[in-house]
Amino acid sequence: SRHEGASIIRTTCPYCGVGCGVLAAPDGKGGVTVTGDPDHPANRGRLCVKGAALGETLATDGRLLAPRINGAEAGWDAALYLIAQRFARTIAMHGPDSVALYVSGQLLTEDYYVANKLMKGFIGSANIDTNSRLCMASSVAGHRRAFGTDTVPGQYEDLELADLVVLVGSNLAWCHPVLHQRLLAAKAARGTKIVVIDPRRTATCEGADLHLALAPGADAHLFNLLLCHLFDRGRSCTDFLPRLTGTDVAVAAARTSRAEDTGLSPADLDGFLALWAGTEKVVTVYSQGINQSDSGTDKVNAILNCHLATGRIGRPGMGPFSVTGQPNAMGGREVGGLANMLACHLDLENPAHRAAVQRFWASPTMAERPGLKAVDMFRAVEDGRIKALWILHTNPAVSMPDADRVARAIASCDFVAVSDAFGSTDTARLAHVLLPATAWGEKDGTVTNSERMMSRQRAFLPAPGQARPDWWQLAQVARRMGFSGFDWTSPAEIFSEYAALSGVAGALGSDFDISGLRGADYEALAPVVWPLAARKGGRFFGDGRFHTPDGRGRMVPVTARLPEATSAEHPFRLNTGRVRDQWHTMTRTGLSSRLSQHLGEPYLEIHPADAARLGLAPAALAEVTSPQGRAILRAMVSDAVAPGHPFAPMHWTGETAPSGRVDALVAAVTDLVSGQPASKSTPVAIRPF
Ligand code: SF4
Repeated sequence: SRHEGASIIRTTCPYCGVGCGVLAAPDGKGGVTVTGDPDHPANRGRLCVKGAALGETLATDGRLLAPRINGAEAGWDAALYLIAQRFARTIAMHGPDSVALYVSGQLLTEDYYVANKLMKGFIGSANIDTNSRLCMASSVAGHRRAFGTDTVPGQYEDLELADLVVLVGSNLAWCHPVLHQRLLAAKAARGTKIVVIDPRRTATCEGADLHLALAPGADAHLFNLLLCHLFDRGRSCTDFLPRLTGTDVAVAAARTSRAEDTGLSPADLDGFLALWAGTEKVVTVYSQGINQSDSGTDKVNAILNCHLATGRIGRPGMGPFSVTGQPNAMGGREVGGLANMLACHLDLENPAHRAAVQRFWASPTMAERPGLKAVDMFRAVEDGRIKALWILHTNPAVSMPDADRVARAIASCDFVAVSDAFGSTDTARLAHVLLPATAWGEKDGTVTNSERMMSRQRAFLPAPGQARPDWWQLAQVARRMGFSGFDWTSPAEIFSEYAALSGVAGALGSDFDISGLRGADYEALAPVVWPLAARKGGRFFGDGRFHTPDGRGRMVPVTARLPEATSAEHPFRLNTGRVRDQWHTMTRTGLSSRLSQHLGEPYLEIHPADAARLGLAPAALAEVTSPQGRAILRAMVSDAVAPGHPFAPMHWTGETAPSGRVDALVAAVTDLVSGQPASKSTPVAIRPF
């Protein structure tokens, strides 16, 4: 049996950014029981339905078991050699920026570290980006503008210590269920007030005291109005203001926002402003409803401004809190696995930082400028600037905005390698070289959750067929390209090198220094929050010290704007998101029939008035079109959405009706600062199918 001889293994859930600890108990007969780890600080034994169903997703049916070259089974050596040769030849002919890696928040930190080292230090291009760009790039950019570094100030515990928790653009109940359970438990124990700000009435509203159905995209207007209210009512923090710069300009910019822009009644708006201003212990949690916008970074800074101006940051029960979608989006940020980052929170555009990392890696070169961010990367694939592409652990032919165009771009690329556990994804089908990757339960490494807690993922199953970890694949190609420094024999060795590099970064002033974990017992590594020296209970900025050159926090002026108007041809604005029981493009959660019982097919949530006007009966099929693409979705008629603002989940990939390739509809419009796509406001047309 594939499970023989194993005992109970402590590991971490591979889905959302809550990062729950799980206990995996193979029964020796082919089954694995998965339960919540009572000793993991993130979940204390709790699991959501996705985590609880992990044991149902471990069969090897459909797994890619051997490397393939142009569809035919091949040996590892031939496949790795071909990738190395094609990358080297392309670089020799067209320069380092003619190749790219597109990676994933599903990668473990060690995989991410190797990918980033290979690309930036040895190939000499920063053309490495990740699907985390679609998830939290606006938070990264907002943090860096305000704090000088991409630092999440608080801890999950703050949601339990707060008197008021504001959830904005976050369906926490479905997207971060265990954190939501912790919040509801705190509410039951101490009466925490919960306010949900979302144009849609989501499941999260059920546990809330107040739901404010804000006008879509008006978040920055709301927080600008709050900033003005704080100053006008003398609610800013006079002790903290000297620790900030840009206050006057930020308040002046905020005054351009009008109450009517929010779409809220005066009573609701005033009530919210007074509640926030009058409650010291307030946490503002935000997620994709803020980040996935063409002004996402400004929305983030509008929120941060309010917390900075009141000094409600990095203190128990207070702070802005970005929750990440993926299991290791944070690890990827720490490693520097995005096109505009270096490593260990160092700055790609700082020559001293680049030189220090190059010295540490003993690398022949170093990328000197940011590479192409996800949307631009696939545009460069399309127009032939990128001629060799390696995609690891993600399915951009389905999940990128304007997905059909991205699929065509990948199909037209001179050379495409794909590493995946499954060989049948829409992206894997387009690969010249397909590499079988190990999956959750088979690989070892670390992940970092939304509160900066690093946890081990541990293997408890043997790799099926010839599947190998991603770090190994990347290192093997690097060696075949003639590079040294890729000789690790285990993720523990990679982690140790990474920890050592973070010490170099710490000496240069980076907030990210885990050098104390160098040489730690990797196998036994317990969940650990950085900064390692338990400074202020693991919180940042409560002492008014920031990572900017002058040590002060920056208030950022935000001139808020609403999304562009829809047209007569495409009069509806499509919002997209997740459902409770599925994950991404369903390659894993789709294996559990239990998880399909909640919502079993792609659907369009549409207001009754819209449905009546279109002649669309409940459960009938609707054809949704945009200038980019088309999807056929089952109508779910509901007043949870506002008229003119339907919602569709993004998980389904099938071609037969109802066909849910929703990201084929989404326009590839991005935030100018962060490069994150605006996945929640695409103009579409709808008609009965
Ligand atoms: Fe996994 Fe997130 Fe559910 Fe926890 S809340 S079990 S990390 S999906």
